[in-house]
Amino acid sequence: MAAQQRTNYCNGEWVESESTETFTVRNPADQSVVGEFPQSTAGDAERAIDAAVDAKDAWAETPGPERGAVLRRAAGLLEDRADDVAETLTREEGKALPEASGEVQRAVDILYYYAEKASDLAGEAKAPSGRASRLRTVTEPVGVVGLITPWNYPIAIPTWKAAPALAAGNAVVLKPASQAPTVVHELTECLDEAGLPDGVLNVVTGSGSEVGATITSHESIDAISFTGSSAVGEIVRESAAETGARIQLEMGGKNPAVVMPSADVDEAVDIVGSGAFGVTGQACTATSRAIVHESIYEEFVEGLVDYAEDIDIGPGLEADMGPQVTESELEGTLDYIEVGNEEGATLETGGSVPDVDADGHYVEPTVFSDVKSDMRIAQEEIFGPVVAVIPVADFEEAVETANDSQYGLSASVITDDLSQANHFVDEIDAGVVKINEKTTGLELHVPFGGTKNSSSETWREQGDAGLDFFTTSKTVYLNY
Ligand code: NAP
Repeated sequence: MAAQQRTNYCNGEWVESESTETFTVRNPADQSVVGEFPQSTAGDAERAIDAAVDAKDAWAETPGPERGAVLRRAAGLLEDRADDVAETLTREEGKALPEASGEVQRAVDILYYYAEKASDLAGEAKAPSGRASRLRTVTEPVGVVGLITPWNYPIAIPTWKAAPALAAGNAVVLKPASQAPTVVHELTECLDEAGLPDGVLNVVTGSGSEVGATITSHESIDAISFTGSSAVGEIVRESAAETGARIQLEMGGKNPAVVMPSADVDEAVDIVGSGAFGVTGQACTATSRAIVHESIYEEFVEGLVDYAEDIDIGPGLEADMGPQVTESELEGTLDYIEVGNEEGATLETGGSVPDVDADGHYVEPTVFSDVKSDMRIAQEEIFGPVVAVIPVADFEEAVETANDSQYGLSASVITDDLSQANHFVDEIDAGVVKINEKTTGLELHVPFGGTKNSSSETWREQGDAGLDFFTTSKTVYLNY
């Protein structure tokens, strides 16, 4: 497949950046070139914002069912090219093809879902206290929204932000992550072809510090939805505080899976292994801490080691587990493996660059045992296929350990004890809690978001909650 020279999408046109500089996106499996993108300037971002400002009123006035029809057509167009987009996603981000296919299908499903929701957004009627009167609310879009997205779910996350924003009648400026912007272009082409009016969606590539920062600090941006690291999220929070823009920040995780003695150990190994090593461990909800009761600890660690060693590593188009997205992400993971060794954890398996016949950023799935909760490998987000297994003496210690984190995104308990499961739900400090299921994997029609440093905890994403962030409400008192 030939590498493509890409441009920005502004006011309904594919346009060159005013900068002559570009950046190259390479396949993390073999370093082949996937695409060439504009290294856009603050001026490019400002033009995109101006286009959105000009387009917002007409889009807000477009009837909801008509807005939904555009999303529905875009969903169909993306579905038609899903196989190609999935292959591009694997070539660009590295994840295994079945994982990429699932992600593209998720984007299609999200577009269909919010296509229907666009017809529901009207407000609600309430009983007034007076006679000869009516009391109701009117739901309105927020205005111009800035969306800033990470590379690890490079089509699902932009879609789960853009679809509700557009369904609700907002105009959008989107900056995709520089490591994986191609699939956002594919999504944009579908929306363009589906008849989205000019200026309603604008896509600008370039660095976070220039394009991203211009969006987050611009007076015309009414709301910013950001997903990425907690460190950058804090910068976005400070920037938005200056303009008063509404914010939604979804950030890192250090997700625990608690394994109790009543669990079937083989099942627990599958749940933890798939949660830890799926998408090469590069998921915000990846299982990075297995907190295991001492009575089954050894059996569990043995099973998890076998699970890790059975994974076939290689280019995502062929293997079960693809490379990390960039060399610096790989180096970050290898550094943490060194930290784990230095801290005195036991490296049970993995920890090295595997012997794969390709020039990619590969790392072995890695299991550390004898981990203590205060070690850095149990506290800091690694964002690679590394899991820390922590022994605990009882359920209370397990919950305490699970909560011993700056993060609170997703958490799981694996148990056959219903009372323990309910206690876990009550006591865990996380935005998502699962019983007998891996920490990764989300349904699109229920809220998603974290607590503590995983989230601004302002608005949730996805489901009906995903629309709340992009809407505001007016209360109407009508007397006659
Ligand atoms: P990142 O480095 O924080 O980047 C996220 C986005 O922010 C990118 O588009 C980046 O642009 C942009 N950016 C960087 N500096 C900026 C600035 N000063 N102002 C505005 N925007 C800026 O995160 P990442 O490495 O792409 O993604 C991995 C992280 O995302 C992990 O921590 C993971 O846990 C988190 N994540 C969270 C969720 C969730 O829902 N909670 C989901 C997925 C991922 P460039 O690409 O150009 O640097």
